Amino acid sequence: MTAQTTTHTVDAVVIGAGFGGIYAVHKMHNELGLTTVGFDKADGPGGTWYWNRYPGALSDTESHVYRFSFNRDLLQDGTWKHTYVTQPEILEYLEDVVDRFDLRRHFRFGTEVKSAVYLEDEGLWEVTTGGGAVYRATYVVNAVGLLSAINLPKLPGLDTFESETIHTAAWPKGKDLAGRRVGVIGTGSTGQQVITALAPEVEHLTVFVRTPQYSVPVGKRPVTAQQIDTIKADYDRIWSQVKSSSVAFGFEESTVPAMSVSEEERQRVFERAWEYGGGFRFMFETFGDLATDEDANEAAASSSAARSPRSSRIRRRRASLRRPASSPGARCATTGTSRSSTGRTWRPWPSRRTPSAR
Ligand SMILES: Cc1cc2nc3c(=O)[nH]c(=O)nc-3n(C[C@H](O)[C@H](O)[C@H](O)COP(=O)(O)OP(=O)(O)OC[C@H]3O[C@@H](n4cnc5c(N)ncnc54)[C@H](O)[C@@H]3O)c2cc1C
Repeated sequence: MTAQTTTHTVDAVVIGAGFGGIYAVHKMHNELGLTTVGFDKADGPGGTWYWNRYPGALSDTESHVYRFSFNRDLLQDGTWKHTYVTQPEILEYLEDVVDRFDLRRHFRFGTEVKSAVYLEDEGLWEVTTGGGAVYRATYVVNAVGLLSAINLPKLPGLDTFESETIHTAAWPKGKDLAGRRVGVIGTGSTGQQVITALAPEVEHLTVFVRTPQYSVPVGKRPVTAQQIDTIKADYDRIWSQVKSSSVAFGFEESTVPAMSVSEEERQRVFERAWEYGGGFRFMFETFGDLATDEDANEAAASSSAARSPRSSRIRRRRASLRRPASSPGARCATTGTSRSSTGRTWRPWPSRRTPSAR
């Protein structure tokens, strides 16, 4: 006897429950009145922020603009503690949004979409889940994210490693490596976050570096209630600027070519950006061509900002965080997701790679 498959018919199917999928379900159901079902293979909402629970996971966008802009009350009720938001804070925020807009009942969590086929004759999509459920819908929104596929490095022998291997994008809930010996593979944005967070906790940390990265201080600092109120009062202007800018990070991108100004002015601009912090600010707010002009890129890479006493102090402090190896049972935390150099991590020309946004 064959099992009978029920075919559900809805107006819209949304795949993914990250920022994109949450907004899509809200838009489709709450604003457009369409019957909508959302799927995520994760057991809850959050997308990127559900999966990336590794220590140190932090936004690259500043807190006041790493949030939804579609609802005034949501914006005015929002709050944050620092200039950048941590993974637990973002996950909590997204969970709150899902509940506030009554979206949870539309999602089927722990459900992977296996196929979406367009049925020409019927003018409908037929979506099949891993559990064999079939949904037909007029609209399918793919909100599957640009970083949701885990990239495990193909290192010969990795499968024979006798201790534990962890990927940052599938960090087990509550996994604590305090007191362990850890190796980290990957020094992009994620690598640098996890290295910085693990260094003071673990017994010994070894970082395997294939391509050295140029790293800019993030400049995470506490914010006051008054600073938050000032931002909230200015949100109309802020979002208008964000939505009309190229990179949407909440600051004006420079259009000035780096080599069009004097050496002294260039150093002043780099120093100021270094002191303020933020990789995207350093890359886009200083000059308009750091990622497209070799001389400009070299000028940034060799700027006095990167050689300032403060940056050597930071380097010395990081070096002193490495402790001698003593305990057995090495553990290996692999990173190497599809996130490449972004934000805090900015690659100078010698590697012949252009920084890419997340
Ligand atoms: C540590 C880190 C920091 C970041 N910081 C920033 C930042 O500051 N600013 C910025 O703009 N971006 C940042 N990003 C990028 C981030 O991915 C996006 O900001 C955003 O969270 C993406 O949302 P999304 O909804 O498009 O996709 P995701 O959040 O990736 O959600 C996609 C979801 O789709 C699900 N899915 C995929 N395929 C299927 C399937 N077949 N069936 C069912 N479910 C499926 C996945 O399980 C996932 O939950 C960062 C990323 C990381 C990892």
